[in-house]
Amino acid sequence: MYAQIVFPLPFRNSFTYSVPRHLEKDVKIGARVVAPFGRRVLTGFVIALGESIDENSTGITDKSKIKALSDILDDEPIFDSKTLEFFKWMSDYYLCSLGEALKTIVPYGTDVESKRKIVSDREICRSLLIGEKNKNSLRAKILSALAEKELINISYLQKIIKNKNVYSILKDLESRGAITILNEIEDAKVRVKKARYVKLALPRDAVYDLMPEIERAAPKQLLILLELLSSAEDKPAAEILKKTGSSSSALNSLVSKGIVEIYEKEIERTFKENYSEEKKILALSANQQKAVEALKNSSGRFDVFLLYGVTGSGKTQVYIEIADETLKNGKNVIILVPEISLTPQITTRFYNKFNDKIAVFHSRMSLGERYDTWRGILSGKYKIVIGPRSALFVPLKNIGLIVVDEEHDQSYKQSDMTPKYNARDAAVMLAKFNDCPVVLGSATPSIESMYNARNGKYKLIELPERIDNAKLPEIRLVDVTIEKKKKKMEGIFSNLLLDEIGKRLEKKENVIILQNRRGFATQVYCDDCGEVITCTDCTVSMVHHISKNILQCHYCGNSMPVPKACPVCGSVSLKFFGTGTQRVEDELAFYFPNAKIERIDSDSISRKGALSEILNDFRNGRIDILVGTQMVSKGLDFSNVTLVGVVSAETSLWIPDFRADERTFQLLTQVSGRAGRSDKKGEVIIQTQNSKNFIFRKVIENDYYGFYDEELKLRRKGEYPPFTRIALVEIKDKNERKARAAANDFHKYLTKHKKVVNISPPNEAIIYKIKGFYRYQILVRSFRNLDPAGRLLRTALFDALTEFNRLSRHKNITLIVDIDPQSIL
Ligand code: ADP
Ligand code: ZN
Ligand code: ZN
Repeated sequence: MYAQIVFPLPFRNSFTYSVPRHLEKDVKIGARVVAPFGRRVLTGFVIALGESIDENSTGITDKSKIKALSDILDDEPIFDSKTLEFFKWMSDYYLCSLGEALKTIVPYGTDVESKRKIVSDREICRSLLIGEKNKNSLRAKILSALAEKELINISYLQKIIKNKNVYSILKDLESRGAITILNEIEDAKVRVKKARYVKLALPRDAVYDLMPEIERAAPKQLLILLELLSSAEDKPAAEILKKTGSSSSALNSLVSKGIVEIYEKEIERTFKENYSEEKKILALSANQQKAVEALKNSSGRFDVFLLYGVTGSGKTQVYIEIADETLKNGKNVIILVPEISLTPQITTRFYNKFNDKIAVFHSRMSLGERYDTWRGILSGKYKIVIGPRSALFVPLKNIGLIVVDEEHDQSYKQSDMTPKYNARDAAVMLAKFNDCPVVLGSATPSIESMYNARNGKYKLIELPERIDNAKLPEIRLVDVTIEKKKKKMEGIFSNLLLDEIGKRLEKKENVIILQNRRGFATQVYCDDCGEVITCTDCTVSMVHHISKNILQCHYCGNSMPVPKACPVCGSVSLKFFGTGTQRVEDELAFYFPNAKIERIDSDSISRKGALSEILNDFRNGRIDILVGTQMVSKGLDFSNVTLVGVVSAETSLWIPDFRADERTFQLLTQVSGRAGRSDKKGEVIIQTQNSKNFIFRKVIENDYYGFYDEELKLRRKGEYPPFTRIALVEIKDKNERKARAAANDFHKYLTKHKKVVNISPPNEAIIYKIKGFYRYQILVRSFRNLDPAGRLLRTALFDALTEFNRLSRHKNITLIVDIDPQSIL
């Protein structure tokens, strides 16, 4: 028997392996297997099985060269043929290999892999090093590292010599007997957790009969028996020993007498959310009712709905209703939510309705909790899965509905890893393969989704009003430049905002303050020579964090103590500029010393459970003012919030990106939407230096469609989506010249397609250096009317990639193709 295997590596083809006899009955399409790959051992996926192999398609002529699979990791397939088709689409659309796409199914840390190690003969390495003429050559560097250490990981070697190209030199050294390369298999990082349990081996009556005798001979053993008799359930051995203060020898002798038995049982690790809310039974409003009816119209078949409901219009309840309907029809549901902030509240509401039918994923779970939840889904224990973008790929069978809440949210795009998918777009495709409806919900739909709705590709459903006749908040704009001239600013706050905050505190109402930057000051510069302190590895300024009194780079995490003097001219007049959340918190504490203030940003909530605690406290009135980054704009639903303040609204407007307007409009509308969600009227004060920008008018007037029309004109003029399809090619390397040369090469191969796609010259990226890598970019686009499915765009990129890998002298640089990029920085 032969199996076709794909690996999560950038190889397009599958690889043929033979299946050893003893694994034949267990191997299945859709299961993961462990297999030798080159000199390594890797985890791969079985995509086909057969009794024979086709010479033509595999190119294999000598069957004796075929290697055998080593092991099978899954008892049950983790994907079926329908899902496989979906993942083929992913690999085709996002230009990754099938194995890389399939890798998204598997929870992190469950693969078996080999790590390669080098054992060196230090004497030989030393003498070879002496014979090296050029002591700065790569070979000399490798030799001197090997002359130092007898055992070294290849990846570690690559790190210390700062070069990845070690293999050909290592091969040569191995052939000279200077080193041996070992493969050491590393098992999965997470495993099934098991514990020893104790149960009675005899009927209860028989145990009672034995007790007088045991009491005389071994009183500790009696305690153990009493503990077991006290409940109907078996108990963990560790718990019993602790409770009764006995040793394992007491337990063991009960085992040898045949009175109790010990067995191993799986422990399921589950995450307990400590945020909680009372369960509410809600009767749908007329608008919600209409929305639910419209959604039911698809009668379970594929359809894309855009649910545009203003903030506080009760979208969650609509999701809950149709999810319930789907379960009643015997099908399962996936609900996607943006990362972190939104999850405690929305998941609690789903939880209250569906209890243990629901599996929840989020970033605060441990590897073990994730793995157990994932296996629960595979075994069919859960009917609903709720989680961030990766939850789209869980092995849930029989999918009957997919919901993408806040579909405009950036976190649906995986921008840091291959495949660079957008879970919203992938959700539409997954629904298509499952022939089921998909609902994209938002109070600020993305331009692309609304465009699709306007063109009839998606069906539009609206919830134009807030629940219970609550009114959308009144929004006021404060121009800080004008206020400064009038002397009506106190530090970073306008008098108006401070006054309004004061009024809310008196009335025991709550306030949310948005400043979309973390840290204290966002720039440190020298007042004498103008030098801005930037990261040594990135072309971005360092941010001052006051709690640790350090400067930190938000791109690579580098940090340093605050310098006493300018690193260029030595002047001591260092100035701190720009406002982050820590400064906002600090100044608020100064103006309102009696108010309870908490901050939500990625610095403050890194501890597990911290966010839930803050939200609980906010809901219960133990916090008056919540300060935070965009995290406070997402989904929060607290009825006592009557004021939202935005300290500087333009932080995201200045970003030179074609989505800057859209992002700012969405952020301001969403954060405003946190105010006045009950009978208490809400108010929003937005401070800005840039009050002329059209988006502010649209935000104030709550005019989404007005914004959409204006923005669409700009997109058409700039030849951006939805009028074009775009891909961003990034070429980067630590060697600046090499990066530029590679970018020029790739550009040359692309230009063969210039008749059908529009290609920018290779440009330095706006953030030219990140983590020491120099970045070049090429923006490629095709026009939607000529290339509706994006096939021309992808073919051009695919061909250029193939040419590049075949011909370029610089192919060992890093090259990333991002289809439908979220930003072009
Ligand atoms: P959105 O996501 O549209 O901003 P939510 O789903 O958070 O809005 O709902 C806003 C608030 O209205 C929530 O507190 C929710 O419990 C409440 N709500 C939703 N539907 C109803 C209803 N039919 N009757 C009463 N309250 C409702
Ligand atoms: Zn200076
Ligand atoms: Zn940096």
